[in-house]
Amino acid sequence: MYLNIIRPIGKILLPKSLRPFFVSIYFGLRGFFYRGKEVYCPCCERSYRKFLPYGIIGEKPRDDAQCPKCGSVERHRMLWLYLKKNLENHDVQLKILHIAPENILQSKMKHMKNIEYVSADIDSPLAMVKMDITDIDSADNSFDVILCSHVLEYVFDDMKALAEFKRILKPEGYAILQSKIEQNRDKTFEDREADTSQKKMDVFGQPDLHRIYGKDFIDRLQSSGFEICVEKYGDILSLKDRNKFGIKSGEYIYKCIKPAWQV
Ligand SMILES: [Zn+2]
Repeated sequence: MYLNIIRPIGKILLPKSLRPFFVSIYFGLRGFFYRGKEVYCPCCERSYRKFLPYGIIGEKPRDDAQCPKCGSVERHRMLWLYLKKNLENHDVQLKILHIAPENILQSKMKHMKNIEYVSADIDSPLAMVKMDITDIDSADNSFDVILCSHVLEYVFDDMKALAEFKRILKPEGYAILQSKIEQNRDKTFEDREADTSQKKMDVFGQPDLHRIYGKDFIDRLQSSGFEICVEKYGDILSLKDRNKFGIKSGEYIYKCIKPAWQV
């Protein structure tokens, strides 16, 4: 618990540009403290006593969620297992755009020989280029793969971002678009009048959210012209592997394919 308190304090005290450096030191110490054999993180390829509780502002912390060393949570470990299987043995060069890059995933993909890797974000110091995903400065049909996890709910015009993703993907290229989906909501909840941090906090429970996706998330992706393939990865894994990797059932991968005929 003591170690889990340090991070939010550092977030307040440290300048944004210095955070990745200090966070890596803090996570390294934490990984040492929790070393063990009970669980295995495929992202940093190490074993620990346990994964740690984790939750963003407005959420109740989830048990067995965060890797003590690399900071990956359930969705990152699932995504990496999926990407590793699908990218590592790909025999042609792939051009990948990674939005809002997670440090551990970025460091792994940067070193894969068959990948031309670009990361982008509107303000993250981890990203290689600055980018507004609703107005992307890239040519049509220029990427094979786009990765964008838990970003769209923070974008004012998510449909514009989806249109941009489809535009810059090559035909038959695909985007992995992950978002938090509340399964008890049939329709995505938006409130355009919640236009300040305080109003968003009151409405969504977070100061920077623009919407909470419901079960119509797939319909929204489809309406942008993608063909959707839902990989039910969290359900496919055995209980033993779910416990080992810290991945929960119901964690899915949303693969959005640009149809071959759309140029
Ligand atoms: Zn890890």
